[in-house]
Amino acid sequence: MRSLLAIWPRWLARRHTLWLALVLLVAALLVTLIWLAGRYEAEQMISNAERDASDAASDVRAGLTRNVQSLQALRTTLGQWPQDAQDVLRSRREIRRLEWRGSDFEKIASASSPYQLDTPAAEAASAARSAELALIDGASGELQQVCKRALRLSGPSYAPSHFSPVGAGLGHELMEMCLPLLQAGKHQGYLVAVYSLQGLLIELVNPAVRRGHELAFTEPDGTRLAIYGQAQRTGRMFSGQQLLDLPGNTLVIRVDSWRSKPDLFPNVLTALVTFMSIALIAVLVLLGRDIVRRLRAERELGEALAFRKAMEDSLVTGLRARDMQGRISYVNPAFCNLTGFGAHELLGQQAPMPYWPPELMDEYQQRQAIRLSGHLPAREGYESVFMHKDGSRFSVLVFEAPLIDAQGLQTGWMSAILDISEQRRMEELSRASQERVQASARLATMGEMASLLSHELNQPLAAISSFATGTVNMLENASHLPKEDVSHALARIAEQAERAGKVIKSVHDFVRRRESKHEDVAPKALFDAVMPLVQLQARKLHVRVQLADLDGQPDVRVDRTMVEQVLLNLARNAIQAMHATPRSQRLLHIRVRKLSASPKWLEFSVADRGQGIEEEIAKQLFTPFFSTKADGMGLGLSLCRTVVEQHGGFLRFEPNHSGVSPRGTVFVFTLPVAFTDVNAATVVAD
Ligand code: ADP
Repeated sequence: MRSLLAIWPRWLARRHTLWLALVLLVAALLVTLIWLAGRYEAEQMISNAERDASDAASDVRAGLTRNVQSLQALRTTLGQWPQDAQDVLRSRREIRRLEWRGSDFEKIASASSPYQLDTPAAEAASAARSAELALIDGASGELQQVCKRALRLSGPSYAPSHFSPVGAGLGHELMEMCLPLLQAGKHQGYLVAVYSLQGLLIELVNPAVRRGHELAFTEPDGTRLAIYGQAQRTGRMFSGQQLLDLPGNTLVIRVDSWRSKPDLFPNVLTALVTFMSIALIAVLVLLGRDIVRRLRAERELGEALAFRKAMEDSLVTGLRARDMQGRISYVNPAFCNLTGFGAHELLGQQAPMPYWPPELMDEYQQRQAIRLSGHLPAREGYESVFMHKDGSRFSVLVFEAPLIDAQGLQTGWMSAILDISEQRRMEELSRASQERVQASARLATMGEMASLLSHELNQPLAAISSFATGTVNMLENASHLPKEDVSHALARIAEQAERAGKVIKSVHDFVRRRESKHEDVAPKALFDAVMPLVQLQARKLHVRVQLADLDGQPDVRVDRTMVEQVLLNLARNAIQAMHATPRSQRLLHIRVRKLSASPKWLEFSVADRGQGIEEEIAKQLFTPFFSTKADGMGLGLSLCRTVVEQHGGFLRFEPNHSGVSPRGTVFVFTLPVAFTDVNAATVVAD
């Protein structure tokens, strides 16, 4: 336990570090996953933008190729060309102007897109058109080079784009395309188409690509030439570029797309990962709480166990558990101390146990068999004798109870064993001293009675003496001896001597110390023993003694000597209490009766007509050495109560209401009835 306490804080610190590491790792994992998911999504957006740029480039390329085919289909006759050119311009909005030039580059015919005049700023548009023309004319050298290259290629050739202002800072980025006109392999001239770069984006790029994107033609260095679409400049932008390599000119198509806000959950994957991570953390927290709860429960259990062990170890009561087969499954240190055997010598032992005295082995075997057959022992326990390892015997009090497990099933027997050998020794000592006190009390009583005794003995002795004197006189004087008279006198002498002997014997019987033992005695026998002494005192104080209901009462199981002492004490106190009562009213009434409420008890009452007991005196009545008499020892009543209580009965007193006028006191005590049942009860008067 101590080592566990020592490593506890270290272990706790380690546990905290582990938890911290786990939480940090999960947090790092979560952040990494979100970052990776975000990155993945950004890459997706970029590749989408690049794919869109590539689609846009191929759309433009395809549109330009289609346009070349339409332009090649134009009929090169002066009558037809304008009409055909107008048709082409109407269906191809991206072409702003068409020119037919001869092989020497002279302008034969030209046509402008009808849509340019549709704009509200018509004036600005026409200015732009003339500016375009001027530009073309002005740049004819450059255009001629383009056309010559077209001729060389026998296909379309494109000029670098240029800005054509329309005023107010506005303008168009235009690009010329030159197509050589060949008829039956013969060079007929050139067809020049002027493209608006923005028109190319609007007309040729698939609307699906245009939606939600900003499309732009840029130069390789990034300069924007034409833009289509509304740029949202908030949030994150992803761009894709694609080269549009045209014969004679290279443009870059750039696609910009946005994500309006940086999302916390950029996509489903991230959301899923985040959700799973949160679930993981929640599970970890729940697990953590569960572990904390378990640890707390473990700690509490450990403390409870340690407390129980300390309790069991410090108990002075021996504890022993046996299973259903009678094998010892547990003993506490107190039990080992009692018997002198170690726990290892006792555990698993079966009857006969090593602490059973050999002489009682059979009895204990039977007792154990009864117990194992499921017979419940008495709640108040039973006395037994155990043997120490050194062979000495000692008395124990054993309390046994069924051992019930958590499921409510009996798994054995639990016993608590108390060493009562010391208690027995003390009881023996106290009994012996009690006996000595009793003997002293009897002697003291006799001391008090010595004068009464001398008075009582005086009469028979005087009678003996006078009969003896008379007989002697008769023997000396008479010539003839009256035989009857002598024998009569001698008989009277013998009678008086016997009477004196009886008085002395009764005193001797009472004073003689008898062995204390419980026996079944008839109440009458108890009174017979003490009545001569009671009568002695009663006669002196002129008290009448009345005994009631003595015959026919059941025997009582008592220590005879002690109970006789109680009767004598109470009778003597009663007689003495009546010294101030008018002689005619001095009555000592002793009665015995069965209690109907508890038939196991017999009630004795000693009633007097004395002065009664005042409240002040009543409080101290049973205190040893309390006496109101000049020569009193004050031990009588306390002794009486001890004796009665030792027999399991009780002693009480109350005012005597039995007379004409209430007077005196009644002392009442109970004694246990012997097992033999005697029902008859007759009234016997003195
Ligand atoms: P002792 O008789 O030596 O005084 P007891 O213990 O027998 O000692 O009695 C204690 C006191 O109780 C007596 O001194 C007396 O005052 C009182 N007492 C006992 N019995 C009676 C009685 N029947 N009536 C009145 N007083 C009594």
